[in-house]
Amino acid sequence: NNEEAAAKAAAVDADNGAPTIFDKIINKEIPSSIVYEDEKVLAFRDVNPQAPVHILVIPKLRDGLTQLGKAEPKHVDILGQLLYAAKIVAEKEGILDGFRIVINNGPKACQSVYHLHLHVLGGRQMKWPPG
Ligand code: C5P
Repeated sequence: NNEEAAAKAAAVDADNGAPTIFDKIINKEIPSSIVYEDEKVLAFRDVNPQAPVHILVIPKLRDGLTQLGKAEPKHVDILGQLLYAAKIVAEKEGILDGFRIVINNGPKACQSVYHLHLHVLGGRQMKWPPG
């Protein structure tokens, strides 16, 4: 139907391989509040926090990972590194007693930036089910 066709078109358009705002954050062309950084991974505070702690964990090299749905076997190492970095961030922020990792994948999940990112959310009671 029309709605599905429009959603598909939007999905294709959204994940068009264009550079994203995260490139500028990685290259420090725009300021961000960096919480953790290593050779492969950068973590910084979300500008529009949805919880007292809301940090984005991203690969410095996108390497085709516009979204998790594009992951291939070559990405397994970086995927593990991102998840481990999320744990380090949660520990640093003192939220190991309760935090949530979110990956929005595609338009239907409200993904808005097409450079893979893990949301680390915490610092308040989280609810379930998520919206
Ligand atoms: O999962 P989604 O793609 O919607 O998440 C993108 C996130 O990037 C949003 O939470 C948004 O607030 C954040 N963002 C940011 N700094 C920017 C642009 C977006 O923290 N300059």
